[in-house]
Amino acid sequence: MSSVQLYDTTLRDGAQREGVSFSVVDKLNITQKLDELGIDFIEGGMPGSNPKDIEFFDKAKNLTLSHAVLVAFGSTRRPKTKAETDTNLLALTSAGVKVATIVGKASDLQVTRVLETTLEENLNMIADSIHYLKAKGLTVFLDAEHFFDGFKTNPDYSLRCLTTAAEAGVSCLVLCDTNGGTLPNEITAAIEAAQKLTTVPLAIHTHNDVEMAVANTLAAVNAGVTQVQGTINGYGERCGNANLCSVIPALKLKMGIDCVTDEQLAKLTEVSHYVSEAANLIPDAHLPFVGTSAFGHKAGLHVSGLAKWADSYQHIDPAQVGNRQRAVVSELSGRGNIIYKATELGIDLPSQGKETQKLLEQIKWLESRGFQYENAEASFELLLYRAKPDYQPTFELVDYMVVVEKKRRPPTRENLEELLSEAMLKVRVGTEVMHTAAEGNGPVNALDQALRKALLQFYPSLAAVKLVDYKVRILEESIGTESQVRVLIESSDGVEQWTTVGSSTNIIEASWLALADSVEYWLLKHKENEQRAV
Ligand SMILES: [Zn+2]
Repeated sequence: MSSVQLYDTTLRDGAQREGVSFSVVDKLNITQKLDELGIDFIEGGMPGSNPKDIEFFDKAKNLTLSHAVLVAFGSTRRPKTKAETDTNLLALTSAGVKVATIVGKASDLQVTRVLETTLEENLNMIADSIHYLKAKGLTVFLDAEHFFDGFKTNPDYSLRCLTTAAEAGVSCLVLCDTNGGTLPNEITAAIEAAQKLTTVPLAIHTHNDVEMAVANTLAAVNAGVTQVQGTINGYGERCGNANLCSVIPALKLKMGIDCVTDEQLAKLTEVSHYVSEAANLIPDAHLPFVGTSAFGHKAGLHVSGLAKWADSYQHIDPAQVGNRQRAVVSELSGRGNIIYKATELGIDLPSQGKETQKLLEQIKWLESRGFQYENAEASFELLLYRAKPDYQPTFELVDYMVVVEKKRRPPTRENLEELLSEAMLKVRVGTEVMHTAAEGNGPVNALDQALRKALLQFYPSLAAVKLVDYKVRILEESIGTESQVRVLIESSDGVEQWTTVGSSTNIIEASWLALADSVEYWLLKHKENEQRAV
């Protein structure tokens, strides 16, 4: 099947998601990642309405992109004005890009009720704006806003918007399901109607309000559109946009369309996590293809099936999208899962051996003490590594002391700051004992700072690791403050994400155990990578 162009709008439509705000540096870094992934067009933002985006386009001139073309986004001229004096269009011409996408209304009700102009004037706005940008040497895509909704109420008018743009010399007609409420069969019917009237290449831009964004995108490709638009992780306003992390593998692996190379596809999970990191959002573990649970198996039967035949319970080989199969460990899953997990990590544990029995007993004991490994795979892996007789920890705790000082005063805005937390820590690295102290904005933060201070001298790359989430759960409410506390810490180095667990009757100790596991796990993996690279 012929190829399909990939158009990413994470930096414009994706940034419309509540709580997301990319800095200029984030946007530049994401652009680079999207280029590596094999995206054809990267929509960088709206230079006409956002000073940050002007700065982005200015700095993006210094990027060396191997494949992707940068696109600036704007809108058609305003009603009853001239294109050459429209500041928005002017900004597009000075953004330093070769392609501009402009949004124009393609629904009669949107024109009369929202834009409050005549249907004729809207067509003039589309034609004038395209003529103007083309005369300035730009390739122009028209974002036909509300096309599918307009097609339901007045199909003739929506199609006239497309033919008007085609006559004005547009290079691509982007059919938008702006409100995200259209179903796949309706998408197909509207595209077929458009194809009868124009030979200009068509693109699809969908939103996920009825959870059809990806399905609608694939239906559109089946109907013959040659460009798909979407965002990484489906970020976008309301329920989001079409998720390119699903669209891309579906096109390539399910529909046989070579939109990216095998090597580029294998970067998908990394790019997904990178973008969630930049957006300061915790990656959704249950996202298809790229989520950490997408190929995770908990039930004992599944895991024993997987041990016999890798594809018995998965729809693709996870390595194709840069993800991996994972056995989820829980109390219920027993010996089979543990052996499977150990093999996955390259640790030799004979299924009937003494070590395995010892490990099983230890895990049972730890679980009875409130540790739970189902969501803390990194801590579980460490248990397996530590069971190896030749395991050398990267550091060992000698002791720590944490002080929290509160002055007796009623809290006010000013003196709240005065609650002081300080940690003193001794750790052994090889034969050396490091003694450090650090303050923090809480006891756990102070411990974290002190540990880093001690270890950064030995492992400078540890600076990339940060704590992204911290969860505390009280396990037995009835015993009051004596109850067991479980702490889950999620950490990231900007590429990978891992979770560790600690449990104790003392919240500081539970936090320390999770924190120390997090650091030890990363150092262990990092050391392995270095060895592999040699
Ligand atoms: Zn949109």
